[in-house]
Parts: sequence; structure tokens; C-alpha cells
Amino acid sequence: MKPTTIPQRLAADSFHIDEGESHITIDQELCRSTGTAKALIAVCAAGVYQERDGQLVADYAGCLECGSCFAVAAPGAIQWHYPRGGFGVNYRQG
Ligand code: SF4
Repeated sequence: MKPTTIPQRLAADSFHIDEGESHITIDQELCRSTGTAKALIAVCAAGVYQERDGQLVADYAGCLECGSCFAVAAPGAIQWHYPRGGFGVNYRQG
């Protein structure tokens, strides 16, 4: 059956997770002081960013590599780059 909803399309993708290195790092203080934390949570369609126990965390394994978070973050609030070669999302055109 051809997927029709966004969750169904996302479920069709596969992820090769780099267990040894996150491609997203967070400066907690800058994220908090600039309001970037709320912007990241709002902008990420994959729900990568969440607040847990007062800290912003990035569950990078589900990143779709769209770059939206890097575009809205205050300078220096996060470090983002594509996953190392061979890792990351594999789109299947769900
Ligand atoms: S690159 Fe896109 S999917 Fe990945 S964490 Fe940033 S906003 Fe979310």
C-alpha cells in the first residue's frame, strides 16, 4: 500500500545511526538565553529537539537533515553538520 500521511511517509525512510558521533551539539546557555530552544522545538518536523529536566536534548537519530534548525538557531547556539559518510537518513520516497 502506498503511504499517504506524513507519519506513514516518514516511517518509510530508514536511518543508519552513527552511534559514535552526534552531528548536533547544543550550547545550553546560548539556546536558553536567546530563545533558540523554543524555536528549535517548534521548527523541527521530526521532533528531534525536546526539553528534559530543564535541558534541551537532540535525539539526532531521527534527523531528516533538512537544516531548518541550523537556519533558525542563534549563532553558536547549536553546531550542526551532516552525519558522517554512510550515516543518516535514507529517503525512500514514501
Ligand atoms: S536538520 Fe531538520 S530534521 Fe534534523 S534536527 Fe534540524 S530541523 Fe530537525
